[in-house]
Amino acid sequence: MSVASHRASGGGVVEKVTCIRAADWVVAWDETNRRHVYRRHIDVVFAGSRLVFVGPQFTGRVDETIDGRALLVIPGLIDIHAHPTTEPAFKGVRETHGVPEMYMSGLYERVVGFRLDEAGRQAAAEVAYSELLASGVTSLLDLSAPLPGWLDLIARSGLRGFVAPGYASARWHLENNHELKFQWDEAAGRRGFEAAQRLIAEADRHPSGRLSGVVYPAQIDLCTENLLRESVDVARRTGRPLAIHAAQSVLEFQVMVQRHGKSPIQWAHEIGLLGAGTILGHAIFIDEHSWLHWGSHRDLDLLAETGTAVAHCPTPFARYGQTLEHLGRYLRRGVVVGLGTDVSPHNLLEEMRWAAVLARITAEDITAVTTADIFHAATIGGAQALGRDDLGRLVPGAKADLVLIDLTDASMVPARDPLSSLIYTAAERAVRDVYVDGHAVVANRKVLTLDRADAAGRLAAAQQRMLDAVPHHDYLGRSADTIVPLCLPLDGVS
Ligand SMILES: [Zn+2]
Repeated sequence: MSVASHRASGGGVVEKVTCIRAADWVVAWDETNRRHVYRRHIDVVFAGSRLVFVGPQFTGRVDETIDGRALLVIPGLIDIHAHPTTEPAFKGVRETHGVPEMYMSGLYERVVGFRLDEAGRQAAAEVAYSELLASGVTSLLDLSAPLPGWLDLIARSGLRGFVAPGYASARWHLENNHELKFQWDEAAGRRGFEAAQRLIAEADRHPSGRLSGVVYPAQIDLCTENLLRESVDVARRTGRPLAIHAAQSVLEFQVMVQRHGKSPIQWAHEIGLLGAGTILGHAIFIDEHSWLHWGSHRDLDLLAETGTAVAHCPTPFARYGQTLEHLGRYLRRGVVVGLGTDVSPHNLLEEMRWAAVLARITAEDITAVTTADIFHAATIGGAQALGRDDLGRLVPGAKADLVLIDLTDASMVPARDPLSSLIYTAAERAVRDVYVDGHAVVANRKVLTLDRADAAGRLAAAQQRMLDAVPHHDYLGRSADTIVPLCLPLDGVS
């Protein structure tokens, strides 16, 4: 029984019914045409954890009424790629960190040199979960190395958690700034795989009822073919999604070509890794990407034909000077695309804005993607990637995961086309209330479940410890300030 349920006087279990009465605007799901549509002045009603009515003038029993005037009601957003237990610690570090000799990617240098301790990872997760909730995310695919207390923490946040404990057969290793090396430890990969399966089973059994497990061999270049094949077997046999990083950097593309003579996507297809249920972060460097000048042009069709989903996270790549080419082309070709927040800020609304603008710049065409395409990706695309037809839509029977947007917030006015105001201007500033599974997790812009300010203080201290230790891990023994100088010179320091 959910917390929202209560016992009726007659003794039977009756679920609490909440009605958002006469909402000014609602983004409702049109099942016939398989698309979101605007509806005006209708009621959105949920009983316990499920939506039961989306339409005019609900006449059934109501226990709690929310005045829908001056509100836009949208389905909760679905984030299918995030690393909450590490990325918040890179605020002020990775925005300008990249290695030109590695085709701009700073990924490898950062993973080797900057290591967050366990207390820092705990604080980071609390900060990220708070940010996500406050910006309207209700479902999160959390890609992390296992952390003690992780399941209880994500459950406590109130998010619908898709928990993906990472494992790999190798680690990246650097001896200079231009050559990516690998330290293989197949036994460690296997132990990680087995530990992940135990944690996934625990997630499925978690008393919150909001957690489920995802199979996550972390990187295509860091896992043996055997480990990948076994990961696919487990995922398909148990009906769980499988998430992996693939086609995320030029170096990775080159490494896979050296090993197998083909693109990462084509090799993934060869070993059975592609298919419905597989989610690739980030599938940017596919064979037709302009940075690669590769001969084949098969990757996009392979993704579409196999039903493989792509987790599109524009921000970190845009900061390197890179982008997926281009979102409109992926969508028109029939690729399932959801959105994610790979780095800070964990703000899917801003990610939506980046996704729209970058696609149009890359395509040199304002019609390359529409705002409706982007909103679809952030809701239905993510739900499809996760194999969930009860998420990302406001329709009776779907989960009561929803977000109330304040149309009177200055950032929303004029709200002629409220989704446009939300995505291109307001973002999280207009997010007033958030419900997951029928429970309020954000009310009046305040996250109810976590103490973000307290976690931010612990995160700042942990970041300092991480930065202090960089010379011990960096391949040249450099300081963090040498690797990533502040953006302005500090006056008085030579
Ligand atoms: Zn990632």
